[in-house]
Amino acid sequence: MQERFTGSFTQQEPIPEAGIAAAMEVLQHGRLHRYNVTEGELGETALLEQEFAQLTGAKYALAVASGGYAMGCALRAIGAGPGDRVLSNGFTLAPVPGAIASVGAEPVFVEVTEGLTIDLVDLEAKIAASGARVLLLSHMRGHLADMDALMAICDAAGVAVIEDCAHTMGASWRGTPSGRHGVMGCYSCQTYKHVNSGEGGFLISDDAELMARATVLSGSYMLYERHAAAPTPEVFEKIKYVTPNISGRMDNLRAAILRPQLADLAAQVDRWNARYRSIEEGLRNCPGMQLIERPNAGVFVGSSIQFLLPGYAPDQIEGFVSGCAARGVELKWFGAAEPKAFTSRYDSWRYAPAQRLPKTDRVLAGLIDMRLPLTFSLDDCATLARIITDEAMILSQGATLKAGE
Ligand SMILES: *Cc1c(COP(=O)(O)O)cnc(C)c1O
Repeated sequence: MQERFTGSFTQQEPIPEAGIAAAMEVLQHGRLHRYNVTEGELGETALLEQEFAQLTGAKYALAVASGGYAMGCALRAIGAGPGDRVLSNGFTLAPVPGAIASVGAEPVFVEVTEGLTIDLVDLEAKIAASGARVLLLSHMRGHLADMDALMAICDAAGVAVIEDCAHTMGASWRGTPSGRHGVMGCYSCQTYKHVNSGEGGFLISDDAELMARATVLSGSYMLYERHAAAPTPEVFEKIKYVTPNISGRMDNLRAAILRPQLADLAAQVDRWNARYRSIEEGLRNCPGMQLIERPNAGVFVGSSIQFLLPGYAPDQIEGFVSGCAARGVELKWFGAAEPKAFTSRYDSWRYAPAQRLPKTDRVLAGLIDMRLPLTFSLDDCATLARIITDEAMILSQGATLKAGE
């Protein structure tokens, strides 16, 4: 009998008991809106921001409605607008170019390396060719570029870096938390990320004026003094008349659910990485497969795993993916011609000017991606690795036969 996997790739862990209790309290007192507080009270959202600032070491933190909102808000705060060009990764998820489009700017896509990080040589070339002043850098699937080299390039060229840390909450590069290299960092609290409030996001920065703008943009009205991780009121005085309110606040119910999860984050990262390493070990000697090494300079969060199957034809990879699916293993392939579910490619974002990224095309053609929810046990991970290895074997044998025809 062929081994089959029966776990769910989309099932998350329950919200911690402390989060459920705190949420019940919010429901009982009914003050769900973040600015609906009693005299002297710091609501759950303000406390959450304070704790997120502490966790990342940022001076300021703002909780918002989603990760996508955080990115759009950061771009607005920095002044990116209609007609501007904004650099970003050719390999990322749809909300990233979507955030650029939301301010009327044009995405300029940068190539990806085989390590799944932004190609720094192409970045330099595209900075020069586009005249862009902003890079919305996506740490897609938690792969961190050499952040020292990247920041040196961007600083020298006067390019501001906004980090998309949807997959790097809890990660760091040479001891600096992800999101603290650029001028602003954006995070997502959506169900499939590292903390789960259904929807939600964060923005962090050390720049007082940017964060005052982001706060008013997010819909603070003139109630910004009810924040505990925001700049001082004098900074708001400078910007409050000229900054529009584009509502995208976090509410106290979600914040209540998130606070205990933030407190648990480091332990959860360890659990994710144990699962990741187990699968990685299991796939080490898989024929025809190229694993993507995680550099030692960083702490990553193994909430998903990627590998390359270079040199196979599209129909062969399709066969591999459907062979795994038939055995309960849900993989995503970034080389498919048509966008599917959460997975799309730069050439399906046709609101952006058409661009050619030959290196990215080559990488994506063989790129497979698998989610690792914490509901998987270490035994599950061993099963997954065995099934994938099996199917990769079939794939490589089929390819050998075909070549010998
Ligand atoms: C999920 C995600 C986002 C946006 O997060 P939402 O909270 O869903 O808006 C941004 N970037 C990447 C890479 C993501 O995976």
